[in-house]
Amino acid sequence: MTTQTTPGTVDAQLTARPLTPRQAEDIRLEEEHAAHNYHPLPVVVATGEGAWVTDVDGRRYLDCLAAYSAVNFGHSNPVLLEAARAQLGRITLTSRAFHNDQLGPFVTALAELSGKDMVLPMNTGAEAVESGIKVARAWGYRVKGVAADQANIIVASGNFHGRTTTIISFSDDESARAGFGPFTPGFRTVAYGDAAALEAAIDENTVAVLLEPIQGEAGIVVPPADYLPAVREITTRHNVLFIADEIQSGLGRTGATFACDLVDVVPDLYLLGKALGGGIVPVSAVVGNADILGVLQPGEHGSTFGGNPLAAAIGLAVVRMLATGEYQERARVLGAHLHAALERLVGHGIVELRGAGLWAGIDIDPALASGRAVCEALMDRGVLAKDTHGSTIRLAPPLTVSEADLDWAVEQLAAVLEDFSTLS
Ligand SMILES: *Cc1c(COP(=O)(O)O)cnc(C)c1O
Repeated sequence: MTTQTTPGTVDAQLTARPLTPRQAEDIRLEEEHAAHNYHPLPVVVATGEGAWVTDVDGRRYLDCLAAYSAVNFGHSNPVLLEAARAQLGRITLTSRAFHNDQLGPFVTALAELSGKDMVLPMNTGAEAVESGIKVARAWGYRVKGVAADQANIIVASGNFHGRTTTIISFSDDESARAGFGPFTPGFRTVAYGDAAALEAAIDENTVAVLLEPIQGEAGIVVPPADYLPAVREITTRHNVLFIADEIQSGLGRTGATFACDLVDVVPDLYLLGKALGGGIVPVSAVVGNADILGVLQPGEHGSTFGGNPLAAAIGLAVVRMLATGEYQERARVLGAHLHAALERLVGHGIVELRGAGLWAGIDIDPALASGRAVCEALMDRGVLAKDTHGSTIRLAPPLTVSEADLDWAVEQLAAVLEDFSTLS
């Protein structure tokens, strides 16, 4: 076996397939001049179409990460590219100092898809979360009557809501927090999945509960079926807002428009992002009714790029695709197929399997291999996936993936696990 060392990376030495000079050079430039806040797999992607990407040397890979669900509709989706191209030729940015002719149709369609009155458009997921927190606090002071600066928000252990200083203030992932304090006060953490603990943490100053209906970064953690309904009942009874962070779980991934739909729960605010921008531009949103989002007055909140006409045109095209229900159905049917195929590997290198729709969290037997090692071996076989938290890998292919491609990906995983078990 030949190995080649990439400067600055240790794990590249574990990769069976040597890097080509072209990829090694691209990686070297990133290593030297991009901040090291990621540890990518050693593959340099150049193009993508549907569920497949091609590297700079022409090798093809099935994309089973889909940019953390931002590419739900596939790479280079022709409908979304057409919406983008058409708008690029008209106007791309006006700022909200003026109206633009794309924002109105976009927010109307997204509000309708969500069954709510209003949309607050932003750009990244973290901005949607920050905006949701500001809205909840303002609602608490102005509507609920909480004393000034006393508001608290309840969050769950194992959460991932983004990377800003306020958001990491209520993370319990030490690698996300260490070295970045001081932290924003006003958050209380309770165990995810424990409705009684959540109710016990509520007091008269609680303005909101902020949860992922399925925890993505934690490893596709699905709570007990009665958890979200209980949270809905408790928050309603205590006059506390229920904010569902559906940035990764929403917009088709789980086989429904929102993961909350799977258990018939309607939160007060949806936080959306990732797939809302069609994998083309960052588009995020807070979606809710006028009695809550209506608390914001001119000048109190904003974003230079939020609601820009290019983003709105693409976001509208995304909402129209979801409005047909076709993608949710694909995720449901193909997801059931994927989970059934993966189920057969439980006990053969997989110790636990979780998920919903086309979203799978797979715990690899830690005695066999790390999640990283499995992902590198998968990459060598033409499947791109990403590890999280040591021995967990996740599969989240574009919802446009074919059943045959899914079967092939599971075959590759089975072969990788088989290889590791013969080695160990
Ligand atoms: C990705 C993600 C975010 C943050 O989105 P960014 O666009 O990376 O800022 C927030 N919440 C959840 C659940 C996410 O998965």
